[in-house]
Amino acid sequence: MIKKVGIPRGLLYYEYYPLWVCFFKELGVEVVISDPTNKEILNEGIRNAVDEACIPVKLFHGHVLSLKNKVDYIFIPRLKSVENGEFICPKFCGLPEMIKYSLKDLPTIIDTEIDFLKSKRSLKSIILEVGRYFCSDEKQIIKAYYKALTNYKSHKELLKTCKDPRNKKKSVLILGHPYHLYDIYLNMGVIEKIKDIGIDIFTPDMIDEVDINEQANTFEDELYWTFARKLIGSTIHAINSKKVDGIIYISTFACGIDSVVVDIVEKTIRNQSNIPFMLLTLDEHSGEAGINTRIEAFIDMIKWRDNYENNLSAHG
Ligand code: SF4
Repeated sequence: MIKKVGIPRGLLYYEYYPLWVCFFKELGVEVVISDPTNKEILNEGIRNAVDEACIPVKLFHGHVLSLKNKVDYIFIPRLKSVENGEFICPKFCGLPEMIKYSLKDLPTIIDTEIDFLKSKRSLKSIILEVGRYFCSDEKQIIKAYYKALTNYKSHKELLKTCKDPRNKKKSVLILGHPYHLYDIYLNMGVIEKIKDIGIDIFTPDMIDEVDINEQANTFEDELYWTFARKLIGSTIHAINSKKVDGIIYISTFACGIDSVVVDIVEKTIRNQSNIPFMLLTLDEHSGEAGINTRIEAFIDMIKWRDNYENNLSAHG
């Protein structure tokens, strides 16, 4: 019988799904992805997660619950570090435990540890550990991984095809963790709303990793956090390349990483440019009308500045 593995549509699903989904499929496994976030998934997540958790982690609980009776396994890797020499938010490291202690009677959790802090030498053993749940042939597992990696790289290249919108209209850089940017229930469709006003969108995924790293290296302090490097590098790139007319940062309430990174991003923009900046902090009580009003006001301000005070700082 074909085994089924569930992948919760939350957190770093939005970054790695082309890799994970392809890998499991290549091993002959049926992949079940939880539905896009909806009210029920959010409410279940809030009801079952610890109060202190951030919204994306609570949401992840809801996605896991929605898969509970549909699959044989649920894939929740223990992510300690996804880049050499860098840390990731500690919530990812404790995620499998949080899920196991908060939610009862779940299928088997595949919680293989991924830790590239010192090097990526352990990559092969990680792949084999996950693959062995479904296949005993090591060669086939490695082959499936390389196919998945190619798929992931193609996906990342595709995301870059929208870059350099400068030749069109006004454009805005939207910053945030992948689940803040791409979970349209969580962010209330911010990206689509801005596009609908006729503004081009730029996200960190549309910027070359090489450019991001180069710009991040110009930052005065060393950046140990993968999210911080990407967001700060993207900010400096946007400032130096003069390709955007505004920068919006989407965050969620109680995000420990963003409590530091947002501050750095805002100060960098203020000190090095006159690009308008807006922070949208979402929580379970955020109302769509309020978000719409803030977006419209921000875009109006960008257009107004262009007509009336193009040479003045946006920060007074
Ligand atoms: S980075 Fe922030 S939003 Fe993401 S899991 Fe960590 S605390 Fe939550």
